[in-house]
Amino acid sequence: MLNYPTCCINAYIKDLSYPLDPDERIREFVKSYQKKNKKINPDSFCLEEFLPCRPECEDAASMGRKFENDLRSQAGDSVADIYRNIKLRHLRDVEEGIIIRLKKDRNRKTSKFTI
Ligand SMILES: [Zn+2]
Repeated sequence: MLNYPTCCINAYIKDLSYPLDPDERIREFVKSYQKKNKKINPDSFCLEEFLPCRPECEDAASMGRKFENDLRSQAGDSVADIYRNIKLRHLRDVEEGIIIRLKKDRNRKTSKFTI
């Protein structure tokens, strides 16, 4: 699975076996870190639709750093900087609950068609 870290895959699978949305789980983590003024590494939020097992997951962060370094060496600084902004936006979307809202909207629209 795209070489996702095993700890992150296991956390996602565990969430699916309980009525807990993975986006809600990671958002709660992020909010608790903010309350403690703990810095959150955007490298862990390295792909859209990918959620780290926890914000400080070193395996997820190292994947994000590797993608950015590969882009910097192969495509240049401007492309790597765009990618860096994508990671920051993904983290912000998680913080602000945007992904959860989009998912709820999508589910509402889908359920209209299935009734
Ligand atoms: Zn992990």
